[in-house]
Amino acid sequence: MVIGLPKAMLYYRYQILWETFFHELGFETVTSGDTNQKVLEDGVRYSIDESCLPSKIFMGHVHSLIGKCDYILIPRVVNYGYCKEVCVKFNALYDIVNNTFENVNILDYNLSVTQGEKEQKGFIKMGMILGKSPLRSLHAYKKAKKAQALHDTLKVKEQERILESEKLKLLIVSHPYITYDRFIGFPITEYIQRLGAIPIYADLINKKESLKRSEEISDSLYWLYNKELIGAIQLLEDKIDGIILLTAFPCGPDSLVNELILRKSKKLPTINIIVDELQGEAGLQTRIESFLDIIQQRLDQKEKIQKRIV
Ligand code: SF4
Repeated sequence: MVIGLPKAMLYYRYQILWETFFHELGFETVTSGDTNQKVLEDGVRYSIDESCLPSKIFMGHVHSLIGKCDYILIPRVVNYGYCKEVCVKFNALYDIVNNTFENVNILDYNLSVTQGEKEQKGFIKMGMILGKSPLRSLHAYKKAKKAQALHDTLKVKEQERILESEKLKLLIVSHPYITYDRFIGFPITEYIQRLGAIPIYADLINKKESLKRSEEISDSLYWLYNKELIGAIQLLEDKIDGIILLTAFPCGPDSLVNELILRKSKKLPTINIIVDELQGEAGLQTRIESFLDIIQQRLDQKEKIQKRIV
């Protein structure tokens, strides 16, 4: 039996968890591959205009998996507890896919902690749907959880090492499904590197600490994923030189949260970049180049002042 994993949205948060779980149970997984023009065009075709770019891309990935696997994994994520909600898109993807494609076998699990739907319960249910015992499914889940935690810790540590660099460092504040998507965020971080700066990623931090620090910007924010990202600004602001808020069009949560960041976090130069399906690279590159120039001028100025004081 083969389980299909769309390489979009929560894949970038749970890749190791999902793959380890299914492999431990003896199943194969197939991933939809990187986003490209065709995936995007298919996604746009199967979405309503008002959908955000990442959810359109998700639809393109689901489409590309049809006929290549027995099930496609699409979880329904609502919340991780009280005041830890997520964007409604993560609740709705299952139903959107189910109502759009006729020939898709969806494998799902629910995550809505306030309603007693915990992750572990969902994974045991999935294992049972696939014919495995609750005990075997539980073992597979625990092993998968450990593997994901170890992977995340190593990534955080690797970034902590990179943060020691003397080079100019830009914090990319963006959802992982935007930052690491080959078609949306990746060309931007690649360009930053070509210009000699280092991208630092807001999702590669200790999430418990960043959640706590997010309260310095807002203690009433609703969306967990956004809280983790803004907490990273507070955690890293003394180690970075500028901030790029990278958002996909049209995103309700990000448009509100970015405004909040721009008003409340004024210590560092910040640029707000919104990507959409018609994005041209030339305009973006000019904006990033100018932004880096501004940061460099600011640093040079600071150095001059410090020399005068000494
Ligand atoms: S947070 Fe924004 S980009 Fe992410 S799924 Fe929701 S609307 Fe789309």
